[in-house]
Amino acid sequence: MSRPRIHILALGGTIATKPDPSGVMQMGAGADDLVKAVPLLATLADIEAETVSRVGSHSLSFDQIHALAAKIAASTAEGVIVTQGTDTLEETAFLLDLLVERDVPVIVTAAMRNPSLTSADGPGNLLAAVRVACDPWVRAHAQSLGVISVMLDEVYAAADVLKVHPTRLNAFASPQSGPLAALVEDRVVPLGLPVRDAMEATRRKLGRAGGTAQPVALLWMGLDEPGHLIDAMLNASDHLGYRGAVVGAMGGGHIPERLADVAARLAAAMPTVVSPRAGGGPMLRQTYGGPTSEIGLRKAGLIWGGRLHPLKARVLLETCLRAGLQRTAIADLFGAWG
Ligand code: ASP
Repeated sequence: MSRPRIHILALGGTIATKPDPSGVMQMGAGADDLVKAVPLLATLADIEAETVSRVGSHSLSFDQIHALAAKIAASTAEGVIVTQGTDTLEETAFLLDLLVERDVPVIVTAAMRNPSLTSADGPGNLLAAVRVACDPWVRAHAQSLGVISVMLDEVYAAADVLKVHPTRLNAFASPQSGPLAALVEDRVVPLGLPVRDAMEATRRKLGRAGGTAQPVALLWMGLDEPGHLIDAMLNASDHLGYRGAVVGAMGGGHIPERLADVAARLAAAMPTVVSPRAGGGPMLRQTYGGPTSEIGLRKAGLIWGGRLHPLKARVLLETCLRAGLQRTAIADLFGAWG
């Protein structure tokens, strides 16, 4: 049987670090180095290795991911694997899922333990990603799975995967839905089905990718938040360059009552999406009264972010603004996310 052609695109991250003379890890390895470290890959697939960049994922930009999406769309391989840092994987994978529609597996993987440590997970994660990309069930369902992430032999949907720990080995999870599948021995065992309706409706409404960067502020709500930063942003010329905002709200969609006025002014100044700081999940719509509970905030013009984590809501809002969508269309699009 012929081996599938798999295209590996390396961006950088811990998986691609090397120690400098003082022992400190620096970005440096390219796609060829990653492939060379896992000789077994050659028995599973015909690998095309391409180094896209050598940067930490904490420094990636929206523009770089748009360029990567174009590369993935143009790839003629039967599966595409992106290796990058873990820090922003939950955002980049989701953005790629918004931008790329392919009928071959598209997988994002990374490493938590750098190559100088015992039990570094990079080689194992790359091997697992290639196994998943070659798996018959995954290949048959590639389009409906969309972009997926493979970490520690678990397969996650891009819209749900989160980095839930800053340092430990098992740092990734999908608290909303659990993993979609697990890699067991050399086969993929499906565990749950992805929610694709929202993604398909969103892609249809977004239309073609392109446009220029549209800064979106992420405003996290905490106990007794006074709102001075929001006020400063609203009073500054050109709102400090921000074109939209995401409010990481408490509970089912609540913010401190003292922010009622500033929140309404913010929503009037730019599209403002509310998303739960609890980490994503459906919010309330019609239970609690008061100016800054769900009913009041929705009446004041804030857009309901549905089940998306605030980080993913920020990615989606940037993508909407870049596509030139106006407030009503943006609210309608977020509505698909329940
Ligand atoms: N700072 C690194 C990055 O995101 C961390 C990692 O790869 O785990 O590139």
